[in-house]
Amino acid sequence: MHNDIKKDLYEILGVSRSASKEDIKGAYRRKARECHPDVAHNDPEGESKFKELTFAYEVLSDPQKRKDYDTWGLDGLRRGAGSDFSGFGNVSDLFDAFFGGGFSDPFGGFNSGRSHASKTVRADGRDLETIVTIDLEDVMTGIEKEVEIERQATCADCDGEGMKPGTKAARCDVCNGSGHVRQAQRSLLGAILRTQTCPNCQGKGEVFTDPCEGCGGEGLSWIKEKVRVNVPAGVERGDRLRIQGNGEGGRYGGKNGDLYVAININPHKRFTREGRNLYVTLAVEMADAALGEEIVMKSLDGEFKLKIPPGTQHGDVIKVKGEGLPPRHGGRRGEILVSVQVSIPRKLSATEKRLLQEFKDRRNRKR
Ligand SMILES: [Zn+2]
Ligand SMILES: [Zn+2]
Repeated sequence: MHNDIKKDLYEILGVSRSASKEDIKGAYRRKARECHPDVAHNDPEGESKFKELTFAYEVLSDPQKRKDYDTWGLDGLRRGAGSDFSGFGNVSDLFDAFFGGGFSDPFGGFNSGRSHASKTVRADGRDLETIVTIDLEDVMTGIEKEVEIERQATCADCDGEGMKPGTKAARCDVCNGSGHVRQAQRSLLGAILRTQTCPNCQGKGEVFTDPCEGCGGEGLSWIKEKVRVNVPAGVERGDRLRIQGNGEGGRYGGKNGDLYVAININPHKRFTREGRNLYVTLAVEMADAALGEEIVMKSLDGEFKLKIPPGTQHGDVIKVKGEGLPPRHGGRRGEILVSVQVSIPRKLSATEKRLLQEFKDRRNRKR
């Protein structure tokens, strides 16, 4: 975004060129409250405005940089920074570094909705995923399956708090309980105040002298458990079922993640599936195809009668309504589509041969 700073830095802050240091600080503080990305959720430009504003403040609050800027404009800043500083791409990186670890008000006392504390102290568990394999018959009826998973669950001994039960946590004296520390870093634009998660307490703001023995203070412990999965009828391969709260455990008051169960379906030896419909091939004797026949076929959950009409051709597809699979979210069952494969006898008895010959002669005479 710094590539497109065209505006005057004084204009960005809304101060005159003769503004005092205090004026500049005050103006920045006022404007930063308005467009801080944590506040101006609804403004898609909030973040870039905020960065722009901060950039202007960074420059104008530094007497040397302000002087360079007054004399040379933005180019002066580039020049002043030396040969390493080859363009504003670097500034952008610098600002990402500046804001990357989460924003904290350089003046203190600026408390936004998305506070540092709730971000680092509470730790929500991650979602987990597992696979359950079922048969095509199970798709017809739905099935309850049990899957065994190993996961990190909220420690039962300390309820995910990490402390030995009955002991108290002490305020972290490195960050004074805030969970983050500020560090001045030297940069091309001078010293930059960077906020980091406190390395002593990992952002919790407190340390416990007696960590929980069950989890070593982590708040999580490995468990193996069996989870019942209700697989509804009509599921498709690749569907994911969500089991709320059975993912990785939350810590320090965080929520559990969810468990996602992906559905795999074993191939069936007779039927192939497409949505609600089932496809099957059926070998039909030449004479049955010609004369028509009614046969009993097996479906996934029973039997059904198949009428082969007279004159059925090889490759014809006969549709049988209502014998397919139920759809997942209610509605009618699909169809079974029977693809007819007319089979020609490879061996004939003497009588069959005579009859077929007679049949052939009659057909030929008609021509
Ligand atoms: Zn524990
Ligand atoms: Zn700390």
